[in-house]
Order: sequence, then structure tokens, then C-alpha cells
Amino acid sequence: MRLSLPLAALLAMSFNLSAAEAPATGKTALVIHGGAGFVPRQSITPGERKAYHEALNRALDAGNAVLSRGGTALDAVTAAVEVLEDAPQFNAGKGAVFNAKGGHELDAAIMEGHTRRAGAIAGVTTIRNPIRLARTVMEKSPHVMLAGEGAEAFADEHPDIQRVPNHYFDTDKRREQLERAQAKEAAQGKRHAFDGTLDPPTYLGTVGAVALDSHGHIAAATSTGGMTNKKWGRVGDAPIIGAGTWADDRCGVSGTGWGEFYIRNAVAHDICARVAYRGDSLEVAANEVVNRIVTAAGGDGGAIALDRDGNIAMPFNSGSMFRGWIKPDGSRGTAIHEEE
Ligand code: ASP
Repeated sequence: MRLSLPLAALLAMSFNLSAAEAPATGKTALVIHGGAGFVPRQSITPGERKAYHEALNRALDAGNAVLSRGGTALDAVTAAVEVLEDAPQFNAGKGAVFNAKGGHELDAAIMEGHTRRAGAIAGVTTIRNPIRLARTVMEKSPHVMLAGEGAEAFADEHPDIQRVPNHYFDTDKRREQLERAQAKEAAQGKRHAFDGTLDPPTYLGTVGAVALDSHGHIAAATSTGGMTNKKWGRVGDAPIIGAGTWADDRCGVSGTGWGEFYIRNAVAHDICARVAYRGDSLEVAANEVVNRIVTAAGGDGGAIALDRDGNIAMPFNSGSMFRGWIKPDGSRGTAIHEEE
């Protein structure tokens, strides 16, 4: 049915009013992640541990600098994710995992809660900071998601998007992970046929950020190289709005984990829907979805989530999740394992 204009206008007005009515408390909060996965404590050297914490802190500083001068949640998550994309420790931008062909295909998404604007890119190969391009899709195209060659062509039209050769993303650590994954796969004879069974994948280091700004607005962003040895132009949950990335006017989420399960369970949206429709606390909603629904389906991973009161949740069930936070009272921290 076509709505008559006055009714459509009225509906739009009441939507905008209810969004604007969310009281801006002046509080700010920021939460970031550098990916979930199984990283045994003893497998990280003290030097590596220090580098992880330093990178997480640099990202927190970048996001918080925006928030503390009254900037937007959108700018804060962009700034935080860019720092993590440039840090070779994480599986996003420099340091992204290799696909089965020995190259890199990157996915990213960003969403602004109160306007429901969103932008995403999938399978790009030359974009130094994929989150920048996702944001450009949101702000300078009529679309939400661009993939592959089309996303690259769109980037050609925006000279401010920094381009790099695909090997810029290479790191020795990720090449070793590819070699191990392919050796294992060859031993199992699974290269061309999917036999219905899955090994828990090697995923580590996807990055994300969720922020609440002093205007009461929330934004979320996620960026990743996906999963080691991925094939056939595989796209994960990170760039899929509602799966790995979501923000509305009361809640935002960035996920990390076995992407196929995050897509099938619309994880990021489900967490915020529970807050909106059931009145669940953020903590309860995030825990339920990540630690019960995803695991019951056979997946694993984690998520970071934040609500409009500045509450933060960071559930994970994968042994570790690189993460950092700054709460509304200014207290901050970074952690890798459970009880840090
Ligand atoms: N969720 C990502 C993907 O499936 C991987 C990760 O979080 O590390 O592409």
C-alpha cells in the first residue's frame, strides 16, 4: 500500500521525535575488540603481550580523543578501528589473514544508530583502511554494501581512500597460519569437497569498536580479513549489517567469531533486539546470544556491546578476546584472557 504523503511525513516525524527524545546524558563510553579466538596464555611472549596492549590503548586513545572533545560516535569508532587496522597484530588491514589463494580480501562495516545509516564493503583487495571505504559507501553512495571489483571502482572515485598493493597486508605470522591450515586440509583431503563436517576455524584478530557520544548517539564498526584459507569469495559476518555489526538508538554491537554462525543467528541485531523488545539488560542480552545461542548452534566467538546509558558487555567463549574499554566514569582497561 502506498502511504499518502501527510501520513508518511507524520510517521517520519514521530520516528525522528522518538529518536531525538532519547535523553542525551552527556556520558561517553567506548569499547573495542581485536578479535576472539583461542590464544593459550603461554603462547604469547611478554613482548607480544605488551604490543597487543599498546595497540589496544592507542585505539582507545584515538576514539576517546574524539569523544572527549564532543565529537560523534561515528568519528570515534572510525578512528579507533583505523588504528587497529594499521596494527599488524590484528586480522584487519595490515596483518589480515591470507585466503586460500595466498592473497587478502577484506570486509568491513560501520553503522550509526540514531539515523540507521550504514555502509559496508566486502572482498576488497587494495584498500589500506577498509573502514574508511565502508564509511564512504555510507556517506557518499546511495547503497549500503559494495563488494569486490565494484567496491574497488567506487574507491577509484574517492582519492582520499588510500590504496596499497595487496602484499602490503602480508605478515609472516599470517602466512604461517595459512601454511598450517593448508597442510592440515591436504592431510584431511578436504580441499574441494565439503563433507558436512567443519573444523573450528582459525580466526583471530578481527577488530571492532562501539561508542556512545555526548549527544547520546551510538555507532559501531567492524573490520576483518575474514578467516584464514577462506575460499570462493567467502564473505563473513563483519560487513553484514545485523550479523557482525549493528547500531540503533539504544544499543550497538561489533562481533568476532565464526562468521557463518553470526550470520545465521543475526547476532549483533539479536543482542540489540533483546534490549529493545524484551527490556533485557545489555549484559544479559549479549551473554545469552554469544554464550548460549551461538554455542548451541555449534559456533563460537565473542562480541562487544554498549548501550545508551554507557553500559558495556564483552562476552566471549573462545578462551580469549583482545579488548579494551573506557567507561562513562573514565575508568579504562585492556585485556586478552578471562580474568584480567
Ligand atoms: N567473524 C570473522 C569472520 O568470520 C572472523 C573473526 O571474527 O575473527 O570473518
